[in-house]
Amino acid sequence: MSEGPRNEPTFRESVDLMYNRAVALMDLPPGLEEKIRVCNATYTVRFGVRLRGQIQTFTGYRSVHSEHMEPVKGGIRFATAVNQDEVEALAALMTYKCALVEAPFGGSKGGLCIDPTQYDEHEMEQITRRFAYELIKRDLIHPSQNVPAPDMGTGEREMAWISDQYQRMNTTDINARACVTGKPLNAGGISGRVEATGRGVQYALQEFFRHPEDVAAAHLDGSLDGKRVIVQGLGNVGYHAALFLSEEDGAKITGIIERDGALFNPDGLNVGAVRDWIVKHGGITGFPDANHVEDGAKVLEQDCDILIPAALEGVINLSNAHKIKARLIIEAANGPVTAGADDILRSKGTVIIPDMYANAGGVTVSYFEWVKNLSHIRFGRMQRRQEEARHQLVVDELERLSSDKGLGWTLSPGFKEKYLRGADELELVRSGLDDTMRIAYQSMRQVWHGRDDVTDLRTAAYIVAIDRVAKSYRAKGL
Ligand code: GLU
Repeated sequence: MSEGPRNEPTFRESVDLMYNRAVALMDLPPGLEEKIRVCNATYTVRFGVRLRGQIQTFTGYRSVHSEHMEPVKGGIRFATAVNQDEVEALAALMTYKCALVEAPFGGSKGGLCIDPTQYDEHEMEQITRRFAYELIKRDLIHPSQNVPAPDMGTGEREMAWISDQYQRMNTTDINARACVTGKPLNAGGISGRVEATGRGVQYALQEFFRHPEDVAAAHLDGSLDGKRVIVQGLGNVGYHAALFLSEEDGAKITGIIERDGALFNPDGLNVGAVRDWIVKHGGITGFPDANHVEDGAKVLEQDCDILIPAALEGVINLSNAHKIKARLIIEAANGPVTAGADDILRSKGTVIIPDMYANAGGVTVSYFEWVKNLSHIRFGRMQRRQEEARHQLVVDELERLSSDKGLGWTLSPGFKEKYLRGADELELVRSGLDDTMRIAYQSMRQVWHGRDDVTDLRTAAYIVAIDRVAKSYRAKGL
């Protein structure tokens, strides 16, 4: 939790408060309310790795929040601020997130207290493999029990090491690759996983703007075109969300907040150029074509239409919530708005698209990757050419009608190529993600608009998710 005043609850307490607000409006059987809320188990491991001539001890966690469905799912975070409270809060959010987007998993999360910038690649591999070893031998990484994925500070590289470590320890497991998602394509990954969370944020906003009534609730109108957007954090999620929104939907990225300050340009920033600058220079400092603001957090309070917190939890808290001017907040990060800030923003009429929905694109595509690993075949491999052949029949027929009957029809430029081409894996993944985001939004909005006692999307999201978890507990006979 960053910058919050003393009286702010912890991250896990904040998630519990939001949960409690929702269950108060539900009619759960006695005892089930608590059973769903609590984290089932947290495993803490301290392990040593010999580095630079001495043994260094690291602390890691894997929390399992709910096993109402198995495997349980959730990323592994590498950061110095990782602690048990945070991992448990994130694991709880995974339970609700998976339920909301109908990914058939329970919720889990892992973390390792480490500053990855302090170690070279070989050292990171040793540390990651050792952490993975500790989790694998306790079945806390396992294709049918617990399937991690990337989170802050981890990516394809770490997932490849974890997958390989599992395979070394389980040489005859034919489904070994399904033990972790977010792997590189050549190690059993899936096309579109890296962009997935950012892409999901884009699809979530597109769906929101398909409902004029919802747009009006945020005191906005029209479409995403021309909307002023401020993004906090240009990591994997923030970068892809900002890139797609600016390049494909006409949104204007007026502010980008990073560790070393913020960039502001009312005419819109070039997201790709900012990202290249950060990669090259290690931060935004010195980037041309923008105003620099030293105290980046102040830019959260700038006037804009849409605010996308895509970095840490707790960045919108009791100390700044009343100063936020954005009409719509979409939580690309997990837990960026504390429970207290949520109360303030709700009473101000700010619409918040909650994290458990907004950033669910990652786990949704992880689900597709897991299914791909278990089915041992790339999506589209069987149908693609057959689909193309059938489309060819239609095109041939249209062309025959046009010439035989002398109708003089000509197909629009580009139609033939576009129509003939069968969908590849990336297109299928995007289609599955788009469908998932649309359907999940509609399930939330039905509760939001359908009940007088529900006035915000977060409570609606919790109600949908908790109801599904409760149903699966009931089906299990618990
Ligand atoms: N770490 C991501 C999240 O918070 C992805 C989890 C996953 O793919 O399992 O949702």
